[in-house]
Amino acid sequence: MRTKIIAGNWKMYKDLNESAELLNGLKIKLAVLPNGVKAIVCPPYTSLALAKSILEGSPIAIGAQNMYPEDEGAFTAEISAKMLKSVGCQYVILGHSERRQYFKETNEFINKKAKKAIASGLIPIICVGETLEEREKNITDQIVSVQVKGCLKDLPAAEVEKLIIAYEPVWAIGTGKVATPQQAQEVHQLIRKLIGQLYSWATAEKVVLQYGGSVKPENAKELLHQPDIDGALVGGACLKADSFAAIVLAAV
Ligand code: PEP
Repeated sequence: MRTKIIAGNWKMYKDLNESAELLNGLKIKLAVLPNGVKAIVCPPYTSLALAKSILEGSPIAIGAQNMYPEDEGAFTAEISAKMLKSVGCQYVILGHSERRQYFKETNEFINKKAKKAIASGLIPIICVGETLEEREKNITDQIVSVQVKGCLKDLPAAEVEKLIIAYEPVWAIGTGKVATPQQAQEVHQLIRKLIGQLYSWATAEKVVLQYGGSVKPENAKELLHQPDIDGALVGGACLKADSFAAIVLAAV
């Protein structure tokens, strides 16, 4: 049985005081996680050190929302994997559709970041997903396959089996339009099969595949109980302790 992993992407929300309130709430509500379930919070960079100190002794892990694929250097405003590790991050979200859309991130660049993250001891959560236009043109499978292949290029099986891939249809992110459990399961199954072809079935069976796109306490259970959905990447609903905790508990 694969572990169910629920990650909360706080995006550009929560200043330091607001972060403290949310983290303290989560620390109480998720003081003990059910067997086989992991929870991750991904606050903005400015709240990572605070998350580390508040979540000391809590089972909730910390992730970042992005990183730059160099060790150090003249890259103004960028953040390295080593810096993320030093503030307690174990995970990093890479290639979120908002990064692809607004900051023109390519599969090649995301692949470079994934390699650096893994080499630095971070577990990447690699995001893929089609736009509404692509779904309507019936090219979802093609788009997602190109993204998965591009983001995993030259990564060995031993590393691929430890990472997380989040399938996030762009049309479902922040729109309230959730993919049906069947639509999500179909694409998750496609991704797992593709990894089986690129590596081996043993590798494919180990990879954690999250669904993301308007996940809420009301729809989480059905999505999280599809055979190839091993967790969720949650945006809007992770900004309140009650709703994020309810989604984590729906994974049981
Ligand atoms: C996300 O930001 O990855 C996301 C899925 O957002 P939301 O849950 O708000 O759709």
